[in-house]
Amino acid sequence: MIKHYKFVYPDFTTLLLQSSLETRLHIQRPSPLQPFAPQWPGAEQLQLFIKRDDQLHAVISGNKWRKLSQQLTQYASLPDHIVSFGGGYSNHLHALGYLCWQLGITFSAMVRGDYRNHPTPMLVDLQRWQTQICYVSRLEYQQRSDPEYLQALAQRFATRFIIPEGGSNQAAVAGIGQIVDELHAQTAPLDVIAAPVASGATLAGLAHHCAQSGARPTSILGIGVLKGEGYLESLVQALLPQPCSNWHIDHTHCGRGYAKSDTELLEFCEQMQHQYAVPVEPVYSGKLFLGVKKKIAAGEFAPGTRLVLLHTGGLQGARN
Ligand SMILES: *Cc1c(COP(=O)(O)O)cnc(C)c1O
Repeated sequence: MIKHYKFVYPDFTTLLLQSSLETRLHIQRPSPLQPFAPQWPGAEQLQLFIKRDDQLHAVISGNKWRKLSQQLTQYASLPDHIVSFGGGYSNHLHALGYLCWQLGITFSAMVRGDYRNHPTPMLVDLQRWQTQICYVSRLEYQQRSDPEYLQALAQRFATRFIIPEGGSNQAAVAGIGQIVDELHAQTAPLDVIAAPVASGATLAGLAHHCAQSGARPTSILGIGVLKGEGYLESLVQALLPQPCSNWHIDHTHCGRGYAKSDTELLEFCEQMQHQYAVPVEPVYSGKLFLGVKKKIAAGEFAPGTRLVLLHTGGLQGARN
């Protein structure tokens, strides 16, 4: 039997459900906003902050909770069974696997590739959390957004609760909006919020909510973490509830591509930890911080600019 969840509750009920889930899961909201004064050329002229979404939870990685929070609370009850997709190091599968285990929800993870003989640390965690792992070929994985394929999965697992790769959909965009609400409560109006971009849902959520709120215009700077000029923009546009023009993506800091790092990036990540006690990894947050550092050095921000770096978490994915 496929369950149909028909009732969409009004906002306040969603929020109540969210806050009870956050209590059960020990999510620490709001995440801290930390002033940041690095010894980077040009940084002394700006007001920098780090929004520490990496500190929302010890296991559930930063922006992945934001993206999942409203998806889990938009129906009358929690689902019995969730299906989702990701690679062998996926922060999304990791966050979802942990929270399904904590909440007693059956979780089936469609994993791209075959890691049976050499599971990654992420997959070892999923096994510990009783996730049903299904290794699928690259070819099958490519169908992950095809309606017929999703229909077949829904029947196979008897659930309608299929969450896209990265947790990225309209509900994710809404969940990201809470970051903007928290920032409004935590500090004076901001000029720039900078965040890494992969599937685009985080950027779309920040841009949409900043465009909606009437305060001082805040521009959203995306740092692309994979080679995808044009492609990443189209992902963001598809996720935006309505078009807005307060955002752009810088493609010059993706290095050699997704999950590829070089010595400069690795050394920079180490330095962030040792000099500033801010842990970053080379896939997302390292590229964000290094990209912003270089843009500051290039004089791309006017003196006095108030800029937040959104630390989206993701440290589990850097384990070997
Ligand atoms: C998934 C992820 C991102 C990318 O967010 P998108 O919404 O997919 O653009 C950024 N940082 C970390 C740590 C992530 O795990």
